[in-house]
Amino acid sequence: MKHFLLKNRVLAKTFTWRITASLITIAIIYTLTQKIIIAFTVAGIEYFTKMFLYWAHEKSWSFSNKPKKGSQQRSLIKTVTWRIIASLDTLFIVMVLTKEPMWASSAAIIESGVKTLGYYIHDRIWDRFLPENIMLDLHTHSTYSDGTVAPQEIIELASKKHCKYISITDHDNFNHVPLIKNIPSNIIYIPGVEISAEFPSTLHILGYAFDPEHTELKNTLQTLQDVRKKRNEAMIKKMETHGFHIRMDELIAESKGGIIGRPHFANQMLKKGYVASYQEAFDTHLAKGKPLYMDKKRLAPKEAIRLILDAGGIPVMAHPYQTKLDNEELEQLIIELKSYGLLGIEAYYSRHSKAQVRHYLHLAKKHDLLVTAGSDFHGKNKANITLGMAAKELNLIPFLEAVKK
Ligand code: AMP
Ligand code: ZN
Ligand code: FE
Ligand code: FE
Repeated sequence: MKHFLLKNRVLAKTFTWRITASLITIAIIYTLTQKIIIAFTVAGIEYFTKMFLYWAHEKSWSFSNKPKKGSQQRSLIKTVTWRIIASLDTLFIVMVLTKEPMWASSAAIIESGVKTLGYYIHDRIWDRFLPENIMLDLHTHSTYSDGTVAPQEIIELASKKHCKYISITDHDNFNHVPLIKNIPSNIIYIPGVEISAEFPSTLHILGYAFDPEHTELKNTLQTLQDVRKKRNEAMIKKMETHGFHIRMDELIAESKGGIIGRPHFANQMLKKGYVASYQEAFDTHLAKGKPLYMDKKRLAPKEAIRLILDAGGIPVMAHPYQTKLDNEELEQLIIELKSYGLLGIEAYYSRHSKAQVRHYLHLAKKHDLLVTAGSDFHGKNKANITLGMAAKELNLIPFLEAVKK
């Protein structure tokens, strides 16, 4: 039911408002005339005349762009012109039906006040109980890190899925940025990156809307990649000693030219029959603490946040649950990261439960942080994660506004 209402929000809202408006009309006319038949007749006629007038009103306004479409001033003036037309409609209907100018004019005047208030309350109730959702995805991985879908295709897929915003956040690099060519008109693309920070469990810092030409950010991430390359070479040697033969050129092909990481090792192990599944490669060989695991260089959290800020970007804590901290420890961490300049928290995440989302939204509010939403789409490498997230639009607006600045 809730899903159906959200999908047909405009239609459902129009319907509940027509019922509310009719009830208000009945109440006003009955109070004035004490005649129930008249009250229902007015409401019945009004139902059709107002529907037509509303359509005509919207149509006439659509021809003019003054005041500018979408502006607050325009909404205000439109509200007034509509109330005048609607009240004249009521005046006319009551006049024709009762031939009593006093009733007709009183009804019109009372109606304009009560319905304006009623419409406002009706709008607030909808926003409170069934707020508008927005589709977007601010956390995805392309072939430039460990995803299987190319950057341009991610943008097109997001557009097809009706996302209004898309960000590609590859691990420790944003090499995809200069390659984005066509951005469909129905979607806004935000440059992104996901930096792995030093932490006992997992702490990833997302960066958005930074300057991709910022020298220090570019160079620092390049250093991480150089270190990673050396680690991969060492991993190949270590694998040899375990009887797993994987060559660098195979990994390069596997990664489609992107940055090579453990997922590509895992896929190669699967293809060569060393393991029965991708996950088995991690669980018995590649995961942290397993024999073939090799650490990579990470930035300190403070450093990652400072770099993103220096490059004019917005640092956001990714998937808070992956820190594996309890509520109190997590809050302490958020306070610490905020003191370094953290600006947001990824409250909506494909693997967060509803309770987790609620808790992270609460923490964001309490510590005055922006809220983001991301799936962590990796294509076939995380086949159960699909592109696109639905989130409460009101919660996302502060972040989306901050991106525009
Ligand atoms: P790397 O940067 O080369 O250390 O690889 C990190 C990536 O490996 C992560 O982004 C995950 O996609 C994947 N990964 C790490 N640990 C696991 C695990 N236990 N199970 C499955 N995938 C994992
Ligand atoms: Zn990844
Ligand atoms: Fe991550
Ligand atoms: Fe990620």
